[in-house]
Amino acid sequence: MYDYAVIGGGIVGLSTAWQLRQRQPGKSIVVLEKEGHLAAHQTGHNSGVIHAGIYYEPGSLKAKLCRRGVQSTLRFCKDNDIHFEQCGKLIVATTRQEHERMLELHQRALENGIDVELLDEAQLRITEPNITGIGAILSGTTGIVDFAAVARTMAARFVDLGGEILTGTEVLDLVESRDCVTITTTAGNTLEAGCLIACAGLMADRVAQLMDIDIDFRIVPYRGEYYRLPEAQAGIVRHLIYPVPEPGLPFLGVHLTRMIDGSVTVGPNAVQGWKREGYGRLNFSVKDVWDMLSFPGFWRVTADNLAVGLAEYRNSLWKPGYLKRVQKYCPSVQLADLQPHPAGIRAQAVMRDGTLIHDFLFAETSRSLHVCNAPSPAATSAIPIGEHICDTILDKFRHD
Ligand SMILES: Cc1cc2nc3c(=O)[nH]c(=O)nc-3n(C[C@H](O)[C@H](O)[C@H](O)COP(=O)(O)OP(=O)(O)OC[C@H]3O[C@@H](n4cnc5c(N)ncnc54)[C@H](O)[C@@H]3O)c2cc1C
Repeated sequence: MYDYAVIGGGIVGLSTAWQLRQRQPGKSIVVLEKEGHLAAHQTGHNSGVIHAGIYYEPGSLKAKLCRRGVQSTLRFCKDNDIHFEQCGKLIVATTRQEHERMLELHQRALENGIDVELLDEAQLRITEPNITGIGAILSGTTGIVDFAAVARTMAARFVDLGGEILTGTEVLDLVESRDCVTITTTAGNTLEAGCLIACAGLMADRVAQLMDIDIDFRIVPYRGEYYRLPEAQAGIVRHLIYPVPEPGLPFLGVHLTRMIDGSVTVGPNAVQGWKREGYGRLNFSVKDVWDMLSFPGFWRVTADNLAVGLAEYRNSLWKPGYLKRVQKYCPSVQLADLQPHPAGIRAQAVMRDGTLIHDFLFAETSRSLHVCNAPSPAATSAIPIGEHICDTILDKFRHD
């Protein structure tokens, strides 16, 4: 019997396992990952931005853990020779209305204790000659990194400390008893663990349901489609360039992102996904779609955001529409510059009444802890999220 089993070889599961092993060196810990390699889903398909923590509701877990996450991610990268860059970011307003929202966002950043600066039109032009806008927020601490490399390094440190990782091992069933959790996997094996920690990303709701937890949310997949600029355009911006986000939505809008490999991506948008872990535009899963359509929250969130959703869909299918979104602040990007780049799929928890859950969300039973909602900036925040999980678990089992 293992002392701890962690489901999920993404950055949240690996950060948790690695920190738990440091804090409980004498205990046996196993990570169970269904894919043949680590970081196969959200952790390996994202923008690679170390977010500073500007956007999040002051006092929320996101605000607290993201702010701490920046420091711990940078420290982890330095300690482990992982290449990162603090290139900074601009949030650019292009209309009077956006400018007002930008000022509100600036206020929120200050409340969150983030070091930001306001730029006027002239300062913006000097800072980024290819960017057009009437003002911007400059965040100098925002950075870039390859989160899959961070996750793989966490896995290596965990294994160095004696932890065990089983890839190609899907968890199919979970039964909790007074003394342990019995875990049935694809390999036909049955494992037992004194405590289970589930960090299953796009499958978070299904894994929670395996334990009969009465959850009031479902994971709804939102595709994030990217393009990549040609190599010759890689110097088009010095910072990351973001629009002012739509109010009420957890997505940040199509941005220009300098990637750590030297390329620049455009995106991601946010369109309805029809397969939780299918990255092709035509990927479709009957099970995933049925689960979505039979959940009232899906219909409510779709109805509440119908205009935005349809516009996203149109721009996904019609490249000139997508281009307009980036030309708004970077007019020199042309249609031919939008080259293919792999999409990502966000795991977004939606409540039965259609509310999008913005904050990180956890659920517990007496022998388990489930990460139910860990959307962006959970890659940036993975180390403090892991620390938070370890604190909760160790507190729970301190009498065992
Ligand atoms: C398009 C996009 C852009 C983003 N940009 C950023 C960004 O710039 N900065 C940032 O901080 N965050 C960003 N994020 C968010 C970030 O990538 C995620 O929040 C983070 O990777 C979540 O990590 P995770 O470990 O919870 O999930 P995942 O990486 O999805 O890992 C979950 C793992 O669980 C495994 N699993 C699921 N079910 C089972 C099972 N039954 N048995 C065994 N294994 C199972 C899966 O195979 C998977 O490997 C972005 C996300 C997307 C999609």
